[in-house]
Amino acid sequence: MENYLYTCAYCGKQYKPRRRRKQKYCCNSCRTNAFNAKKKISLAKPETTQPENQLQKIDKMSWAGVGNAAAGTLAVNALSGLLTREENKPATKKDIKEIKALLSKRYHEVLNMDLDSYGSEPYYDMETKNIVYLKSGNYGI
Ligand SMILES: [Zn+2]
Repeated sequence: MENYLYTCAYCGKQYKPRRRRKQKYCCNSCRTNAFNAKKKISLAKPETTQPENQLQKIDKMSWAGVGNAAAGTLAVNALSGLLTREENKPATKKDIKEIKALLSKRYHEVLNMDLDSYGSEPYYDMETKNIVYLKSGNYGI
């Protein structure tokens, strides 16, 4: 029998090993507790690393002034606020349709010019890149 005392890896108590083979803990409950504690740490890991991942993404986008996870969250909020601002909203199918319709139109009304002597309205001709005077109602305008 060994007289050597082991120190429990969980509670730190000194104990006399019951078996000759190497024992880490003084009792079964310490062994179980130590095992559960390890499990908890490994389970908690993905949650704690998530803000860091966000931080890295922000760094890649060269978002300045991100020092810690809290600032990172603020930056993410500020960034998403910026991206959802009216003028930065991604173009919808409707927007693209409107843009296409606008580009396919040859004549565009010029608002800061007066009518000509015949009462025709000024239009910008997309093809000739000239101002032309047209009677409204013509050319499908
Ligand atoms: Zn113990």
